Amino acid sequence: MKMALLRTQLYIDGHWRQSSDQATFDVLNPATGQVLQACSDATAEDVRDACEAAANAFASFKKTTAKERMVILNKLRDGLLENKKEIGQILCQENGKPIGEAEGEVGFAASFFDWFGQEGRRAYGQVIPTVNGDRQLVCVKQPCGVAAIITPWNFPIGMLARKAAAALAAGCTVVIKPAEDTPLTALAFAAVCERVGVPHGLVNVVPCSRSRVAQLGRLLCTEPLVRLLSFTGSTEVGRLLYRDCADTVKRIHLELGGNAPFVVFDSAELQMAVTGAMAAKFRNTGQTCVSTNRLLVQAGIYDRFVEALAEAMKTTLKFGDGSIAGNNQGPLINRKQLEKVKSLVEDAVSHGAHVVMGGKQPPEGGLFYEPTLLTGATKQMKLYTEEIFGPVVAIYKFATEEEAVQIANDTNKGLAGYLYTNDYQQSWRVSMALEYGLVGVNESLTSTCEAPFGGFKHSGIGKEGAQEGLECFMETKYICFGGL
Ligand code: ADP
Repeated sequence: MKMALLRTQLYIDGHWRQSSDQATFDVLNPATGQVLQACSDATAEDVRDACEAAANAFASFKKTTAKERMVILNKLRDGLLENKKEIGQILCQENGKPIGEAEGEVGFAASFFDWFGQEGRRAYGQVIPTVNGDRQLVCVKQPCGVAAIITPWNFPIGMLARKAAAALAAGCTVVIKPAEDTPLTALAFAAVCERVGVPHGLVNVVPCSRSRVAQLGRLLCTEPLVRLLSFTGSTEVGRLLYRDCADTVKRIHLELGGNAPFVVFDSAELQMAVTGAMAAKFRNTGQTCVSTNRLLVQAGIYDRFVEALAEAMKTTLKFGDGSIAGNNQGPLINRKQLEKVKSLVEDAVSHGAHVVMGGKQPPEGGLFYEPTLLTGATKQMKLYTEEIFGPVVAIYKFATEEEAVQIANDTNKGLAGYLYTNDYQQSWRVSMALEYGLVGVNESLTSTCEAPFGGFKHSGIGKEGAQEGLECFMETKYICFGGL
């Protein structure tokens, strides 16, 4: 792996450096199991330095105009797009996703710098009509301060960009802690920052190993210099961080797990529903928080749908090393994830699920799991409540709309839900009834920089993307001018 944007050191205050105790951790290629690089393993001292650098940079950055910040964001957009191939390659190698999806993700990341660069210029305040003639009431928006950003491995540049672009547009500076499985993509982003001349201290990247993450995560939550924490990851870790942020009363955004229902009603356009289900399930080998977790199919279309989905899975899915053209199902990210998928399928089968296809690892083994189709899924199975995060479809049969809505909402998660129907009143009724932050009607790829992304219930707090994504990184200050 020899590339111009490949970095393995920490990026603090515009400089590359080893961890203060010289420790490193291995980054693996999940498709081959081989070590790609040894990455610097940040210490508490390094993270404190990063926070200080971000706080020092904030003192001047907060005074810049939105237009000046837009110029920086535009440079980052262009830097990402110009290096899409190389960053895509790094991403593909450490994450395992197919190269086309990896490059697509870099484009997705660039779209946030484009969007927030412009949106920052529309962070309007307010003049509130006064009731006292000698006063004027004015509200202005100001950046929160230093933002700590903790990102997951499933979209190593997409999630980083969705947070960092909004933060920088608002005038915040950032300390990014990428996931231990995918630090190289985040460091490639830092290399782009350096290349396009982002002022020192605005963006700091401090990867660390799994063994240090609890300590460093806690530090970011408790460090007084950090004013806001933005996290995407598991609900379990999100809860922990939420608690840890209490003492310093940090602003917090959480994008946590989902348990997405994908409801196919009798009136649905069969092929459209199958295409939607394939995309909602198999993108990134099922490892997204908006991936379909429970596929609910109405009795009248059930047999035709199962048959058509099985056919689509057989003819279009090809697993293997994502860097090889034609493969569209990469490996799972790590052993823990593979074991989880295996155990969820075993549990479903032991509770009566029928394996239409897959249900095991392929002979090649490694971290690959065969695309799997299970029918006869029920509430008693663990995959009814737990996020599968793998290429496994579990189909539940239902009879009525009320039943479908009841099952769909029978979870404490509420990120994304999908419905396929040709009944126009039903599409509105069900969209309104679903307790989800994102609803796709006859569409399963809904994420875009212009629209708000975020969950209900235990799926999170706050929105990313859209105007609301910017708002999250800003405070409203009310100024009362008296004695006029
Ligand atoms: P997953 O189980 O999908 O890997 P995690 O929630 O564990 O999801 O990981 C998401 C991000 O949270 C990663 O950057 C990971 O390093 C980080 N993380 C994991 N545990 C902690 C923790 N205790 N404190 C702070 N960050 C953590």
